[in-house]
Amino acid sequence: MSDRDESRDDPRAEQTRYDQARYVENGQYEPLLSEKDQTRVEIGGNGGDGGSPLPDDLTRDSLELPELSEPELARHYTRLSQMIYGIDSGPYPLGSCTMKYNPKFTEDVAALPSAAVHPDRSERSVQGTLELMYRLQDYLGRIGGMDAVTLQPPAGAAGEFVGIRVAAAYHEHEGEGHRDEVIVPESAHGTNFASAALGGYDVVSLPSDEGGRVDLEALEAALSENTAALMLTNPNTLGLFERDIEEIAEMVHDVGGLLYYDGANLNALLGRARPGDMGFDVMHYNVHKTFATPHGGGGPGAGPVGVVDELAPFLPAPRVRENGASKSEPGYELFDPEHTIGKVHGYQGNWLVLVKAFAYIARLGDEGLADASAKAVLNANYLASRIEYEVPYEPFHHEFVASAGEQDAADVAKRMLDYGVHPPTTKWPEIVPEALMTEPTEVEGKDTLDRLAAAFNAVADEDDETLEAAPERTTARRIDQTSAARSPRLSWQALESEGDDE
Ligand SMILES: *Cc1c(COP(=O)(O)O)cnc(C)c1O
Repeated sequence: MSDRDESRDDPRAEQTRYDQARYVENGQYEPLLSEKDQTRVEIGGNGGDGGSPLPDDLTRDSLELPELSEPELARHYTRLSQMIYGIDSGPYPLGSCTMKYNPKFTEDVAALPSAAVHPDRSERSVQGTLELMYRLQDYLGRIGGMDAVTLQPPAGAAGEFVGIRVAAAYHEHEGEGHRDEVIVPESAHGTNFASAALGGYDVVSLPSDEGGRVDLEALEAALSENTAALMLTNPNTLGLFERDIEEIAEMVHDVGGLLYYDGANLNALLGRARPGDMGFDVMHYNVHKTFATPHGGGGPGAGPVGVVDELAPFLPAPRVRENGASKSEPGYELFDPEHTIGKVHGYQGNWLVLVKAFAYIARLGDEGLADASAKAVLNANYLASRIEYEVPYEPFHHEFVASAGEQDAADVAKRMLDYGVHPPTTKWPEIVPEALMTEPTEVEGKDTLDRLAAAFNAVADEDDETLEAAPERTTARRIDQTSAARSPRLSWQALESEGDDE
């Protein structure tokens, strides 16, 4: 309650309430289907009287739904879709998060009836499903230079946690259970710190050098016989490639530590360089960033984890392998790795996201993947060359971090929405003041990049007052995010009656 009360003194929260009235006045407000139509049609009615094969307490007597025509329904959902900004509305240059949504055919593949298999079916009856998983493990292994892959973790952060638990199990098995530190550069994604801590480790934060890369002297000082792992993103979140990566790997390995690769920035390396060849021992892939599937609002994603041979026995269970039944017609089976850390997700992970990743990789092939990363790097460099904001760290690859300087990066982001484009990731990494972390991805053409640059530059010239009042043109304006997160209103009725109190 206290959070809510504080937010009432916040002028921006005031603006949110005012906005609700404005939508209604301007006809921008879209009522619920049940508000649109008060008449009700009764659906069902076979429950409770033994008419359903389900137990009585699991069926309802009837379901009353508003009586609406098909066009009314279509308009409702079309209007809702137009009230938000999505990746199908325009460019979405969220740095590090890599938002892209093509090719769309991956959706067709995931929608094939044969993709919708029940997870409890016998292995013999789902050989095609297992083959797809086996081949995806293989694709990902080859892309990352890793020997073994698990498809189970449902997100990048979950993959990090699995990777850290696998590293812990390995050290334990080697009689090195005393290792209790994981080193994370200060430019890393917040999930790296969280995964290491959740995995039971003390987190040692590593400062960057003046160029924005790993400071080798600081690394030397941080490494010890207590080091379990160093987690690195490469290119790092500034888009900079760690040129000393081989030396870094050697330093970590010399003290008996493992090198973890955060794969969220794999879009820069696809088909060109492999974490395994750089000396990494374990990595996760954010398949929802690098391959198909847009993400947001909490999902869906998948964060497969790849490891070198030494770590393979510790991967989560089950994995898929060829069962060697017959040479001419290989079969596939699930198996538990020898020293597995156990299960980390129901069944096989976020299956349909994995199907889309498989379809994407198979469609693009080696050349297509290498072409995607080349264009991602080209697009980032072209866009950066067109914007007025300073980009302090170079040479970057698939993303760059500009500084909003005297402006507030969050206000810049809100204002960019008024120019019809999605803003970049803001305020992170903290090495760059008022960071605008921008990743156009390979999917945008020159016209779109020019439009994005024009939006950046228009906002760069605006005063604080204009920025603080933004966005003017979106359906919702300044959202009271703290209250939304801490005391979410999950029912429309609750919102209405609370509104009455005010
Ligand atoms: C997105 C991201 C993560 C976390 O991945 P999720 O799939 O969102 O859990 C980790 N590291 C970096 C650098 C990222 O951009």
